[in-house]
Amino acid sequence: MLSVKEARGKVLSCSVKHKIKKVSLLDSLGLALAENMVSEDFIPAYDNSAMDGFAVKAVDIVGADKNYPIKLKLIKQDLPAGKIPENKLESGYCVQIMTGAPISEGSDCVVMKEDAIKEGKDVLIFRECKQGENVRYKGEDIKKGDIVIKKGKKIFPGDIGVMASIGRSEILVNFPPTVGILATGSELVEIHEKLETGKVRDSNSYSLSAQIKEAGACSKRYGIVRDDKEILKKKIRETLSDCDILLLTGGVSVGDYDFVKEILDELDAEFVFWRVNQRPGKPMAFLTYKDKFIFALPGNPVSVMVCFELYVRPLIKKIMGDKKLLRDTITARAFYDFKHKEGRTDFIRVKIEKVEDETYFKSTGMQGSGILMSMAEADGLAVFPEEIGNIEKNTEIEVYLLKD
Ligand code: AMP
Ligand code: MG
Repeated sequence: MLSVKEARGKVLSCSVKHKIKKVSLLDSLGLALAENMVSEDFIPAYDNSAMDGFAVKAVDIVGADKNYPIKLKLIKQDLPAGKIPENKLESGYCVQIMTGAPISEGSDCVVMKEDAIKEGKDVLIFRECKQGENVRYKGEDIKKGDIVIKKGKKIFPGDIGVMASIGRSEILVNFPPTVGILATGSELVEIHEKLETGKVRDSNSYSLSAQIKEAGACSKRYGIVRDDKEILKKKIRETLSDCDILLLTGGVSVGDYDFVKEILDELDAEFVFWRVNQRPGKPMAFLTYKDKFIFALPGNPVSVMVCFELYVRPLIKKIMGDKKLLRDTITARAFYDFKHKEGRTDFIRVKIEKVEDETYFKSTGMQGSGILMSMAEADGLAVFPEEIGNIEKNTEIEVYLLKD
């Protein structure tokens, strides 16, 4: 049986094909760019004012001061943003200008409105100004031909702004994979149905959909299939042609009605591994089928979620071209003694708590693989490694955080 580390290594070393697709600008948020983003414009496109004030020649106002204002003649026409200056500015003149307006030829700085007073056809300037002061120069942000965002970078809101400013409305990205979910089990009913004895609501389809969504991929629920080998085989074949990764839940153990493994064998899917030396989530299989991936996950609701975190999420991230495949981990101390059997990796659902300067983890309660509340309340998974037995209070342990 594989160790967790080996199993994860096998998932992460799979070769994946990125799904390159054109999307609209806003839909690219959070995805990896699949092209070098090159600007075809200078940004700003022209020299313009950074302030509301008066465009002048710096030499005309040398020595201007509160006590020694310098008087300039005001050109009649002012320059609101969007207007193009009609005349060249001559010495001894100034022109009223607003933020963003192109500065007139002949002027080389802008005196802030606060440092000047209009007096009829004149303006008194109370402060001198250096050449270039309050001027934003053509191309000072971006030059024509610049690579503004490199291929492979994850797109954040600032990148969206840059792409909008250079006029890109459609972007090539690594599109997220479609991850299908097929729940197997004759006991399963839809979530709106009443619970009769012997029936279980199909929560896995929903917790997995949520995890897929949180990972940034597209989820597709294919519903419930009962434990009937022929029906199940037909359904698996159908769904495989429809998604990039197929998640099966349930029916992968060694029970008399557990057909998943047998079916996948018959469909000629290639087993990368089956069973991992961990709890929860031991009876899981990872397979490839043509250019697709299949995870046959255990039915137990906690196992399903833990296996997704450990193996499915990193694969999704890899297909998306995300550089960060794994969640952050921290080291925390056991708040009290924990029992642990040496020889197997256990993932304990824990809450993280800071006490003074120390970070501790506490159990979220009962740890059975069917106790979904243990997962709902968890901040992370404390990793009790195969090499060690009982964990004593204060022992430092690695915790995989479940939230970013
Ligand atoms: P299995 O892996 O098929 O042996 O199922 C293990 C346990 O998980 C059983 O108690 C099932 O009832 C439960 N289970 C299986 N599939 C689901 C599901 N989709 N939602 C909730 N519980 C499930
Ligand atoms: Mg079952």
